[in-house]
Amino acid sequence: MADDGMTYAEHIADLVGNTPLVRLSSVTDGIDCTVLAKVEYLNPGGSVKDRIALRMVEAAEASGELKPGGTIVEPTSGNTGVGLALVAQKKGYKCIFVCPDKVSEDKRNVLRAYGAEVVVTPTSVPPDHPDSYYSVSDRIAAETEGGWKPDQYSNQNGPASHYDTTGPEIWRDTAGRITSFVTGIGTGGTITGTGRYLREVSADREGGRVQIIGADPEGSVYSGGTGRPYLVEGVGEDMWPEAYDPKVVDEVIAVSDADSFEMTRRLAREEGMLVGGSCGMAVVAALRHARTLPADAVVVVLLPDSGRGYMSKIFDDGWLASYGFRKGSTEQTVGQILE
Ligand code: PMP
Repeated sequence: MADDGMTYAEHIADLVGNTPLVRLSSVTDGIDCTVLAKVEYLNPGGSVKDRIALRMVEAAEASGELKPGGTIVEPTSGNTGVGLALVAQKKGYKCIFVCPDKVSEDKRNVLRAYGAEVVVTPTSVPPDHPDSYYSVSDRIAAETEGGWKPDQYSNQNGPASHYDTTGPEIWRDTAGRITSFVTGIGTGGTITGTGRYLREVSADREGGRVQIIGADPEGSVYSGGTGRPYLVEGVGEDMWPEAYDPKVVDEVIAVSDADSFEMTRRLAREEGMLVGGSCGMAVVAALRHARTLPADAVVVVLLPDSGRGYMSKIFDDGWLASYGFRKGSTEQTVGQILE
């Protein structure tokens, strides 16, 4: 912030983190304890991924991997790309993002709007194929002078950013009263870093330490699945990334697409929070967990991104119907699969 009596940030990237907690009050019917949402779409790039972007870039500058005028190359279709792009602007780096062709033109245009170059690769090839988005990003990073690939799936600065920011913010804002933390698992960075901090800080607390609960799409490996397809974006995996430490997690709750989308619609309509599908998923898991807890429990659930990126999907009744979900009109929620 400026020191001339006025209050302003020097750059939008300086506003990453310090997101608020908001109590959920409508979707919590039948639950006795307090359920608080950590609203990550209020980050400047619109998602939790701004945190890891900033930390990964600053660590690469410190280690010399990223040099002045360098180029950031990452396979990403959305949130991490936006975070990297706005940090890159502040610091004068170029960005090249590699997206599979299943990613909508709208999402690619968001990345281009921030000044990034977008390279599109075919979706229907295995990860080790030379045209896969992993292989193409490796090749571009190696062949571009000053190229650097953050690799959010293995970069330990992802979990470290949450250990240093997300965890302490939640502990501070709940005055150390949080009893459970619930979040979706994608790269695993959020749950690993935040969970590790909250476990450590509460380790000797009277009444026991904070419970760390993962939310996972049905079919993903974290909840024992085989990687079978699901529609919720940004969470679940078909392999185990290095950014994820399962030892930090007490329980993983699997949630269906239908339940995730219904809750996503309810959060917009009843709580005034237009959020993405992985937020609905995390809230379903948080409420299932909260139902088992006494009135003095405090559950914090992290909401990773905004619903703006999903208007033609989760918030479109025709799209939902095309996948066999019941229409989500204003009176009626997605609820059940018709089949
Ligand atoms: N939700 C969305 C929309 C995401 O983009 C991500 C990140 N892939 C997550 C949840 C999960 O976060 P993490 O990668 O830290 O596990």
